Amino acid sequence: MIKPKLYDIVIIGSGPAGCTCAYQLAKSGLTMAIIDKDTFPRDKICGDALSADVVNQLYRMDTNLAGTFLKLKPKEASNGIRFFSPNYKSLDISFTSQNHKDAAGFVMKRLDFDAFFAEQIKGFSNITILENHKATEIKYNEEFVTVETDKTTFQAKLIIGADGANSIVKRKLSDNKIDKKHHSAGLRQYYKNVEGMNPNGFIELHFYKEILPGYFWVFPLPGNQANVGLGMLSSEISKQSINLKEKFTELIENHPNLKDRFKNAKPLESVKGFGLPLGSKKKQLSGDRFLLLGDAANLIDPFTGEGIGNAIRSGRIAAEHIEKAFKTKQFDTSFNKMYDTKIYQAMWKELRVSKSLQNLLKYPWLFNFLVKKANKNKSVQLLLTSMLDDVDLKKELIKPKFYVKLLFNY
Ligand SMILES: Cc1cc2nc3c(=O)[nH]c(=O)nc-3n(C[C@H](O)[C@H](O)[C@H](O)COP(=O)(O)OP(=O)(O)OC[C@H]3O[C@@H](n4cnc5c(N)ncnc54)[C@H](O)[C@@H]3O)c2cc1C
Repeated sequence: MIKPKLYDIVIIGSGPAGCTCAYQLAKSGLTMAIIDKDTFPRDKICGDALSADVVNQLYRMDTNLAGTFLKLKPKEASNGIRFFSPNYKSLDISFTSQNHKDAAGFVMKRLDFDAFFAEQIKGFSNITILENHKATEIKYNEEFVTVETDKTTFQAKLIIGADGANSIVKRKLSDNKIDKKHHSAGLRQYYKNVEGMNPNGFIELHFYKEILPGYFWVFPLPGNQANVGLGMLSSEISKQSINLKEKFTELIENHPNLKDRFKNAKPLESVKGFGLPLGSKKKQLSGDRFLLLGDAANLIDPFTGEGIGNAIRSGRIAAEHIEKAFKTKQFDTSFNKMYDTKIYQAMWKELRVSKSLQNLLKYPWLFNFLVKKANKNKSVQLLLTSMLDDVDLKKELIKPKFYVKLLFNY
């Protein structure tokens, strides 16, 4: 029998979560293998929207890294959101840029963004990068964890599940199961020549009655391309027996807000789908000798569907925890529970507000009312702009008092 390769840590998945964790631990001296089933650059089904939070997370990791990212070419700057309400009206809300003087957000194909990230962990003598290695089995034993791949076998003191929505680490080592009330399904298709795009690169979110809670999106990309998609809560898809692909095509071909804009547009690929494990319910994020990160830890914002920022944030938090674990030689469930606590301290407030906003979509007339008021009154628009950026202000949106004030004061 071939002897398993030994490392301090094995990270499964070199997406944003796994790469962040490896990057943050690069100077620790710990030996790491980071394995991925794919070879980079690789595609990842996504809306490709990189919010201001993503750029801020890059700054938190390393200002040089953020600087390198900002210079990358194949991305479109985005300075706001164009919302379409259930009664087909639109509302433009500008982003307020945060710590950096460039655009507040970007749209960049994951093919390019993830390749940039994967590039950053190259050249460290303690990091072994193994692409085209699919983890097929994980076995826990008190002394170490064994990871079998289609090529070889590894052993490590700690295993990091950064392997996305269908995480094998989550399936084998935790009791987390797909829960359709806290899970969305998403579709993506790249297009060229969609007409009527906002000249300032605003991303578009279309909230139409038949797809709530969820939305159709059009995100601008360089070269007159666009990332077009549809995401919807899995429990609603089942309840209403929706065929998501058919719904997607139907919207593009027949919706009064979309059909003319797509008349001369050309699809660049077939429609592709993937799952979004939402962070609307607390989950088990760790256990004996393992931690879950990013999508494997269900950290996607339930209202916006964004998960890249939280994937990076979880990679940073995990790296800090791992350094402590190796210093004190503690890898057990009770020690790792501190990782769960830190994750939810950093993210739960925002995830909870987003869950409440998702629930508000049950009342489409409220959305129509908000858009109508904001279109009539610049100060309501400005208020919404600041709400997008600040979780405490955003909380106001879920209070009935806010709408009563809006009704009588504006
Ligand atoms: C349709 C859709 C639209 C989205 N739009 C947005 C958006 O616009 N903005 C945003 O911020 N977020 C968006 N998200 C969410 C975002 O894609 C994820 O939150 C993000 O990719 C999570 O990063 P991660 O590193 O945790 O996982 P991933 O990026 O999924 O990386 C996981 C890695 O693990 C590897 N892997 C998986 N299984 C194995 C295995 N068995 N062995 C070895 N390697 C393995 C994969 O190849 C992959 O490289 C969207 C998601 C979907 C599905």
